[in-house]
Amino acid sequence: MLKCDQVVARADALVDGESLSFRERWALRLHLLVCHHCRRYLRQLRMLVTSLRRNEETVDPATVEQVLHRIDREQNSH
Ligand SMILES: [Zn+2]
Repeated sequence: MLKCDQVVARADALVDGESLSFRERWALRLHLLVCHHCRRYLRQLRMLVTSLRRNEETVDPATVEQVLHRIDREQNSH
């Protein structure tokens, strides 16, 4: 079973639709099935990426930093 930090390390690839091996993808799915922290993390990351893509020109980098920090804090608080 993957650990949360391994999932978080892979979350970018998952959200970006990068190619993961079948094994990796399966391991991630399995972890997400049982870990609601990582599910929430992934959902937030997805929302962030989506909104960034939508407003590519208008997003303030400081805002992005802020959101990422908040996600990191929540992720580390369990
Ligand atoms: Zn987890």
